[in-house]
Order: sequence, then C-alpha cells, then structure tokens
Amino acid sequence: MDKTEKQYEGGCYCGNIRYVINGLPDVSAHCHCRSCQMALGGAFVTWAKVPIEKFSVTKGDIKICEKSPGIKRGFCGDCGTTLTYAAEHEVEGQNWLEDAWFSATTLDDPSIVSPSTHVFVSHQQSWISLADDLPRFETF
Ligand SMILES: [Zn+2]
Ligand SMILES: [Zn+2]
Repeated sequence: MDKTEKQYEGGCYCGNIRYVINGLPDVSAHCHCRSCQMALGGAFVTWAKVPIEKFSVTKGDIKICEKSPGIKRGFCGDCGTTLTYAAEHEVEGQNWLEDAWFSATTLDDPSIVSPSTHVFVSHQQSWISLADDLPRFETF
C-alpha cells in the first residue's frame, strides 16, 4: 500500500470485521435497486469504491452471498452487515473486479464520501423523497 495516502477505517455493526482503505473513495453513488434494498434491509444503499489494491480486510472474514450468479455481496456472518459488492463479469463496459465497492455507511466516518448520483431510481420506494440535486438514472 502507498504509505503517503491517508487511511480510513470501517467495519460491520458488531465489530468482528474491520477494513481499511488507502485514500478517499473515487466514486460514490446511492443505489435504489430492489436487490440492494433486500440485501441491506433499507430503502437504498450508498456505495463507494476504491481501486481494489487500496482495500484490505484487517479483521475477520467477509462471507459471500451469491444469489445471482457472479454477483457477490459480502457481509458479516455474525451481525449481517452488508459490506461489499462485486460482479465477476463486465456490466455496461465496466470491469467490476478492478475496484472494491463497499457500503459507505460502514466507514467509521461516512462523511468522507461524496455521493454523486442516484441509480436505479426506477426501483425507488414511493415514500422516499429526494431533496438533493444529484443526477438520477433509471438504471445506471
Ligand atoms: Zn459483524
Ligand atoms: Zn443496487
């Protein structure tokens, strides 16, 4: 890891899984898709990413839920917090394996992320009203 970059830590609700990222996330987005709603038990999730070499698990082992083939949602087996998302195949021209996507709210200080879009608003719950001016995409 590049020691010149500031490190930020995060982890699951119970504390059995901890991770560290090197440098600030380069992308963050709110996802309203039905799969994220179900997997996280919330109306939407705020994802963030860093290049894969800048994400390290420092405590515990992330368990994987693979309901859809090739889509791996990482979570804590003790408390259930969803921590990571990875797709094994290219989606819309993006190679997901080059990046480590993680739930921004699992950072110790989630305020370091700057979400820039809402994606999958076609699945957005009708009782959620968005008051920000961020771009919105029906899918992504
Ligand atoms: Zn946990
Ligand atoms: Zn989603």
